[in-house]
Amino acid sequence: MWDFWPCPIGLCLATMASMDRSVDASPSATDSGGDSRTWSRRELIDHLGMMGAGALAVSMGGGLVGVLGHVPPASASTGATSSGMTRKFRYGMVIDTRRCVGCKACVVACKAENKTPPGVNYTVVVEDTRDNPDDKPLFLTKPCFHCENPPCTDVCPVSATFKREQDGIVVIDYDRCIGCRYCITACPYGARTFDFGESYPAVEEDTAWAAVPSPEYGQYRARQHEASPIGNVRKCTFCLHLQDENGRYDKAAGRWPACAKTCTGHAIFFGDIQDPNSEVSLLLRERQAIRLKEELGTEPNVYYLL
Ligand code: SF4
Ligand code: SF4
Repeated sequence: MWDFWPCPIGLCLATMASMDRSVDASPSATDSGGDSRTWSRRELIDHLGMMGAGALAVSMGGGLVGVLGHVPPASASTGATSSGMTRKFRYGMVIDTRRCVGCKACVVACKAENKTPPGVNYTVVVEDTRDNPDDKPLFLTKPCFHCENPPCTDVCPVSATFKREQDGIVVIDYDRCIGCRYCITACPYGARTFDFGESYPAVEEDTAWAAVPSPEYGQYRARQHEASPIGNVRKCTFCLHLQDENGRYDKAAGRWPACAKTCTGHAIFFGDIQDPNSEVSLLLRERQAIRLKEELGTEPNVYYLL
């Protein structure tokens, strides 16, 4: 546990940077399992900030409104509770940087669950290279952060992407999306990718990959030439197709985001951040956490435990 400054939940990198100048810099951090690493706070801040930016490079590579769960606002504004609706859930992730081993099982699980084509990745694992060969590498798995104030939705000229009021999940209506890709440019985390229409080759004639429909948004679209989501922007949905009719996930039943369900290091925790008794809320109370680029005011709903 970091023991040299009290870190409230969601302490932003900018705040950490300012504290770095005023607090004595004890460089050691030890996790509950006795594992230790020696970084200066300055190093950690710099590296995490760089990894947030670096992911941008990694990514550049009439809808069923009922399914999507919310009529998109005409202004495409972001306020999840702008209409006065009470947020039922605030789904988010807490990712333990000390547990992530960089195996990328989450990346594979996401591809298998959502049937994403070549070049479309809903989550990536960013690896930080250490200056000192004795340091352990630092991995960050990066899904869409489902920001409270998502700049990606503001720029959409046709209100095709928006934040759901009932659970805060940021979605894309493929039947509205015109493929302009403004949202890709606006996302500061590189969380969106464009579907250029590529497909994985069939292993055998009767096992054509493209013939398996994606369950995204509960729409089960078969992959067809020039039909959505080909030509649309795509991103992580927190596997919302696994929610029940009340918007709840069920971990015990396996209806849980594929990355969190598959993580070999048990580094990815998922749940309702506004529920004080949820696993993610308990972790955020017990451990010190940061959010990437919080100085931008996006308020990501994905936290990283230090
Ligand atoms: Fe939008 Fe990017 Fe935030 Fe996801 S991470 S909600 S795509 S700004
Ligand atoms: Fe909106 Fe689609 Fe353009 Fe993104 S690519 S801004 S979702 S129309």
